[in-house]
Amino acid sequence: MHPAAAADPAAGAAVKADDRAHVFHSWSAQGLIDPLAIAGAEGSYFWDYDGNRYLDFSSQLVNTNIGHQHPKVVAAIQEQAAKLCTIAPGFAVDVRSEAARLIAERTPGDLDKIFFTNGGAEAVENAVRMARLHTGRAKVLSAYRSYHGATAAAINLTGDPRRWPSDTASAGVVHFWGPFLYRSAFHAENEQQECERALAHLEQTIAFEGPQSIAAIILETVPGTAGIMVPPAGYLAGVREICDRHGIVFILDEVMAGFGRTGHWFAADHFGVTPDLLTFAKGVNSGYVPLGGVAISAEIAATFETRPYPGGLTYSGHPLACASAVATINAMAEERIVENAAEIGERVIGPALREIAERHPSVGEVRGLGVFWALDLVKNKETREPLVPYNASGAANAPMAEFAAACKRGGLWPFVNMNRTHVVPACTVTEAEAKEGLAALDQALTAADAHSV
Ligand code: PLP
Repeated sequence: MHPAAAADPAAGAAVKADDRAHVFHSWSAQGLIDPLAIAGAEGSYFWDYDGNRYLDFSSQLVNTNIGHQHPKVVAAIQEQAAKLCTIAPGFAVDVRSEAARLIAERTPGDLDKIFFTNGGAEAVENAVRMARLHTGRAKVLSAYRSYHGATAAAINLTGDPRRWPSDTASAGVVHFWGPFLYRSAFHAENEQQECERALAHLEQTIAFEGPQSIAAIILETVPGTAGIMVPPAGYLAGVREICDRHGIVFILDEVMAGFGRTGHWFAADHFGVTPDLLTFAKGVNSGYVPLGGVAISAEIAATFETRPYPGGLTYSGHPLACASAVATINAMAEERIVENAAEIGERVIGPALREIAERHPSVGEVRGLGVFWALDLVKNKETREPLVPYNASGAANAPMAEFAAACKRGGLWPFVNMNRTHVVPACTVTEAEAKEGLAALDQALTAADAHSV
């Protein structure tokens, strides 16, 4: 049904009234938000009760890789609900077995055992626990400019300037700088120098902390929320080598970058690197039912052959979630959705964004791959001063708020974080949809330009 035909402002107002009265929203000052009431969604679009349709360039929280309401996934959830809604994690059940096999067939190297979770942060919690039990060591190293989730260990591993000022640091988490040439922590002049200096910095951090005390290094293969920073060639292979030399478990967090987002099934495939543990969620089933997991190497799986693994929740490997993962992965393969992400990204989105950057004073850098792109917005291209300061709110954040409002007026739902907008449509995005969104983005950037010189 076309959204205009379904418009029902009175129903929208009722949804909004109950929301405002009773829903306590995540990541929000409850009195300062005005959530849009959503009536429906399909493919690359969703719409409100007033008949306004938005092209979803955010994929929600970068998870609807297969688009909204994919009919094969919806049908699989309905069929599974009719057959077996729930069963405890201790049983073997067809959809769980099949989901694990389909995932293991696609993960790199020998990551052939799958531990299911209900989302990304829980996957990170368990990967860290596995690494600590496997090594008998406590510390975990993670990068500044990273996001690993909002639960206890995951938020402490997160290296994001928004980290909760009231949180106490978790014992044993050590942050280091990863490579990011545009805002280099190492004053590097090119990608090779950035790579070498970032690896030397990591080596030095390990030497100071004591290699024998470090259980794991966790990295997003391509850091997402923090700015879609594609690592230089050789960096991840260098980290792999350092981990091997010191007996440290290498965890790659592919919660956002996995399942087609970068134009490969996993971002690690771009770099020819196999971690010891790989975390996933989001794109595994486009978030139709909560699901995540950890793909485990043969060596780490062997640690728990005779020794019980102490972890798991009531809903681990939930049948509805697993059925939706099976349908999602099969549809992605049948419809060549990963290939589409690579092709549209390279041929349409990347070149268009580079061309947009040349015309707009507010666009400092364009970076990304597949359907995973960031525009770093600046006050001044020369100085690279961010358009808004880190953690800006209220008036200080007005330039980004004005930009986001302009996108929405143009029918585009953007992903906005700090001084960046990320272009992260569904992996199913068509060329026409990509061009429609890029035109709206181009137009909306004039609102950001007004704050740049
Ligand atoms: N890891 C990464 C790389 C993420 O991007 C996210 C969420 O954005 C998480 C972990 C946390 O996932 P979830 O919100 O499903 O717990």
